[in-house]
Amino acid sequence: MGYQTPPEMPPAVSGPLIDPFQRRITYLRVSVTDRCDFRCIYCMAENMTFLPKAQVLTLEELERLSRAFVARGVRKIRLTGGEPLVRKGIMSLVDSLGQLVRSGELEELTLTTNGSQLTRFAEGLAKAGIRRINVSVDTLDAETFRRITRGGDLAQVQDGLRAARDAGLAVKVNTVALRGINEDEFSDMIAWCGREGYDMTLIETMPLGDVEGDRTESYLPLSLVRARLPQRWTLEDIPYRTGGPARYVAVKETGRKLGFITPLTHNFCESCNRVRLTCTGELFMCLGQEDKKDLRAVLRNGATDAELQAAITDAIRHKPKGHDFVIDREHKRPALSRHMNVTGG
Ligand code: SAM
Repeated sequence: MGYQTPPEMPPAVSGPLIDPFQRRITYLRVSVTDRCDFRCIYCMAENMTFLPKAQVLTLEELERLSRAFVARGVRKIRLTGGEPLVRKGIMSLVDSLGQLVRSGELEELTLTTNGSQLTRFAEGLAKAGIRRINVSVDTLDAETFRRITRGGDLAQVQDGLRAARDAGLAVKVNTVALRGINEDEFSDMIAWCGREGYDMTLIETMPLGDVEGDRTESYLPLSLVRARLPQRWTLEDIPYRTGGPARYVAVKETGRKLGFITPLTHNFCESCNRVRLTCTGELFMCLGQEDKKDLRAVLRNGATDAELQAAITDAIRHKPKGHDFVIDREHKRPALSRHMNVTGG
């Protein structure tokens, strides 16, 4: 692995964050809690043990870290989880990070949510400066929804989606493709997104965390999904990119965008501009690798702002070139032991 600067040089405490492969880090995903009111079968085990409170960063710590990244040129922050809207007091963090959007220091503050709490929060999110949210919806069938989420209520999420629209938030629907569970629904979901005015992204399951099931049974390559869609839809390749893993097409009949996130069948690392902060303050340089830096220890050891910045620089020096997920019949165990709700999806 190369280094941004020779290792003997003291790490920089200001200036842009550039990794050893000359990728500029401009996007921070922040998991604000590992807790969630759903237990999606591909994400969590049914009986999850959640982290003790003392291990989870306080809202003040999350804010300090977020601001430290913004000071280094991060332009976009996405709050995720767990379910970000079940974190107690979350709106105080949203409001303070929203100020950075209003002052122009941050280009965009966004949120990924399961939608269950949006009737309560949509208006506040919009007022704080959030313009777009991602809402995870894997099926439009109430019973299948209950099964995938292990108890979730689709009607509650649909009410949340309406509240988001009423508040003026743009919505992108995230749908995980699951063989034998929702694979016959994508076409209808594209139509629904068209009617409701949502973009949509299909996601392949990633082998993260032990979920008590056999992932090879639910893994559905998006190449197969995409090959079937032209029976009903005209898909046009478009150059739209967010710096993330999704590749987008336009659905001619609906005028909406449709994205495909294919971590297993397509390597998207070369344009990676992001790092992930867990709710325990670990900074993961790559969703698919174990390289991490414990920023909570740095904070709780009483680091000055300069010491914190040096720790961040040091972490970015170790961003790996790419990831290497494996999911096949011989590798039924997760490629990585941590769950998505800790790293943040
Ligand atoms: N609770 C929020 C939600 O439901 O969107 C945010 C956190 S959730 C971990 C973020 C996204 O990760 C969701 O769209 C979820 O479907 C996706 N996800 C979780 N585990 C996954 C896995 N193993 N493979 C692919 N996507 C996964």
